[in-house]
Amino acid sequence: MLRSGLVSSCLVALAACSPSSGADEYDVTSPAPSLNWQRDVVATRLEVDLASDSAIATLDLAASTRTGASFEVGTLAIESVEGPSGPIPFRVDAGRLDVGLAARKPAEVRVRYSFERSKALEGVTLGGTTFTWPHFCGNVFPCKSQPADGQRFELAVTGAPSGRSVVYPSSIVADAPSYMLAWAVGDYTKLDLGETKDGRRVSVHYLPGEKSKAVRGTEHLVAAFEWLESTYGEYLYGDDVGSVSAAWGPGAFGGMEHHPLWHVASSAMDDEETHVHEAAHGWFGDAVRLSCWEDLTLSEGTVSYLAARALEAVAGASFGATVWQNYESRLDDVIATEDRVALPASCNEVDVLRDLWNEVPYMKGAFFYRAVETEVGRPKLDAALAAFYARYRGKAARMQDMLDTIADETGFDPAVLAEGWLRSLGRPDR
Ligand SMILES: [Zn+2]
Repeated sequence: MLRSGLVSSCLVALAACSPSSGADEYDVTSPAPSLNWQRDVVATRLEVDLASDSAIATLDLAASTRTGASFEVGTLAIESVEGPSGPIPFRVDAGRLDVGLAARKPAEVRVRYSFERSKALEGVTLGGTTFTWPHFCGNVFPCKSQPADGQRFELAVTGAPSGRSVVYPSSIVADAPSYMLAWAVGDYTKLDLGETKDGRRVSVHYLPGEKSKAVRGTEHLVAAFEWLESTYGEYLYGDDVGSVSAAWGPGAFGGMEHHPLWHVASSAMDDEETHVHEAAHGWFGDAVRLSCWEDLTLSEGTVSYLAARALEAVAGASFGATVWQNYESRLDDVIATEDRVALPASCNEVDVLRDLWNEVPYMKGAFFYRAVETEVGRPKLDAALAAFYARYRGKAARMQDMLDTIADETGFDPAVLAEGWLRSLGRPDR
């Protein structure tokens, strides 16, 4: 669709390129807005004013072999696009912003816009808290929602209603997927929980009436975070980390991997597994990004397994057994009602919300790792997970890369287990 083959052949021999065929699109110096999804976003600095529902996004863009740059802008109303030397031509079409930039040069683009409040969990919600997974970042800031795209962020949010505070990280210092950035608005109280050996200060932000639930749900959070650091490797997203209660409304359960201040649904504030699950996304799903949405198991299956392991390690064997009992019933339920293949063979062809996201990638993924653990033992599987994290942190990877790493590091090829747990319906014979 992007006709990249034609472009690269023109760039190899510019003089031979005919200016009469698609000159606007292929002239490497043209400032006219042009479609270009390939230009990488290196960093986004976001200044948000909740009083006027407006924002300025300053995007640092890498050089591209093609002119222009494109971003998802969903329901945003784009007011202006500027660079360091003045206005930049732009066009908005069907939720996509194209800007005019010369090829082969890095660029800084400043986009002024206003945003809408969404009743659904699709961008900036009516309560003010953001929800961007999987592909709603474009309702919050100009972005690219593909999970493989990583970038750094700075964030400043002002204009909260009186009596409300905004909880967010002011900077994200290592590459992260667009769905990681978030803020939460509410009448928050911060409770410091402690510090890990590596120096991470762990906290929980709770809403009125939630203190006892928040305390219960985070009883082992510091120890679990420390266990993840010591078992799998260095955490990348700063020293102040923790759970933030998110008032998503009735029916919402679970959390969202908005590191370093991940969100936990108000209804799940007393659920230790949810807090640790979201914490573990700092390693898998955020620091290691998904190459394709089809690799969702690399995020959700891996952290479901890690949450059970971390809680068993820090809260005891019977606590771990309870987590696995809960996983058993979640697995049985989803197989009985909504079974599917956890790891489809395609790449970015499924609609992740409609076709893939349910308990399957979480639970079949967790049980796949437990089956590998039974074969190779915990120390070898942990070493393989740590080796995988060391290799892919700050990058995107496929679940197949994990299977290859397990085979390389443990000497056990998990292909048959992957076939049974991840590439088939039902559950394999135990
Ligand atoms: Zn998750």
